[in-house]
Amino acid sequence: MATSLLRIPPPQALLRPLVVPERLLLGPGPSNVPQRIQAAGGRQILGHMHPEMLQVMDEIKAGIQYAFQTQNQLTLAISGSGHCAMEAALFNLLECGDTILVAINGIWGQRAAEIARRLGANVYELLKPPGEYFTPRDIEEGLVQHKPSVLFITHGESSTGVLQPLEGLGELCHRHGCLLLVDAVASLGGAPIFMDQQEIDVLYSGSQKVLNSPPGSAPISFSERAREKVLRRKTKPRSFYLDIGWLGNYWGCDGEPRRYHHTAPINSFFSLREGLAMLAEIGLESSWERHRANCARLCQGLLSLGLELFVKDEKARLPTVTTVRVPEGYNWKDITAFLMDNHAMEITGGLGPTVDKVLRIGLMGCNSTGENVNRVLRALRDALGSCRRSRL
Ligand code: PMP
Repeated sequence: MATSLLRIPPPQALLRPLVVPERLLLGPGPSNVPQRIQAAGGRQILGHMHPEMLQVMDEIKAGIQYAFQTQNQLTLAISGSGHCAMEAALFNLLECGDTILVAINGIWGQRAAEIARRLGANVYELLKPPGEYFTPRDIEEGLVQHKPSVLFITHGESSTGVLQPLEGLGELCHRHGCLLLVDAVASLGGAPIFMDQQEIDVLYSGSQKVLNSPPGSAPISFSERAREKVLRRKTKPRSFYLDIGWLGNYWGCDGEPRRYHHTAPINSFFSLREGLAMLAEIGLESSWERHRANCARLCQGLLSLGLELFVKDEKARLPTVTTVRVPEGYNWKDITAFLMDNHAMEITGGLGPTVDKVLRIGLMGCNSTGENVNRVLRALRDALGSCRRSRL
């Protein structure tokens, strides 16, 4: 009998069935994936260049144009998570030596600044304490002082629970010869955004929040101004995978025959298509209203439990992710663990500047319901009764 050359045996864990418990995901994402979207992702795959697949991609593009409220031709889904779309935006907009102003009031600005520095850009930071937002005046001062070619700002700051008003920022940036780049990963579909009317130059989001699709694909769109800046580049974008010229061609945005660039995550795109279809069926305005109303109910309920909301200004509260201060005398980890163990429910602690300070509760897409508001409030009441002063 031939002796095996294998030195590593098959892992025992893989010889057992996959375990995926049922959970209600009320953290800042991912959110639960409804049956229809799961079923779409479970369909047999197509080749990434088959005409039927290209048709699905065209439908995704139309869905993103609706969700973003844009007519931009250069609109597509990145094969990757929200970070990948953030990198796609920055890798294409910035060349070594370009100046970018990054509005930082939470972790997402910090991440954008980190990526821009790695690209060799001159990075200036405009700072606000976590829980606050930027006024047009703050932005204008930064534009005048630093003369950036790009401004980065986060619409839905999911680490702090702040909704950034965008009115007038696009026009302001353009008056100062600057492009406006907006992160709407946590807010798209849950709070109004109008890419064309608000003169946003690059906008990106994610699949796993309000769109209730699995993580791994990320809508993005470039305005004509942004496209022109990319065309004027002296150097090629540092990333081939995220080169918007190649991606735009694969997505049929440039009128040229579509060429193979990479193998698209076919099933993720099936799911994203259904997530966008469900948003189109519900309609943006009723989706925004549903998120607003359920967030308001949640905030009321949290106040009734004697908890303190982290974002003081009511109109600056992000309708998709609510931040509440960790109550005095409690360890946040006990609370999140209690909800997971006793209610099969995820809420999370803070992130970046809000670590140890807040709990974050997400109500996104199909998870934004009155029933889930009641469930999370009941579970929190239960936790507050059981976790008091433990291990502090
Ligand atoms: N930006 C914001 C506002 C986010 O909430 C997130 C995800 N929490 C990201 C970017 C990054 O997305 P991902 O985790 O999908 O890479």
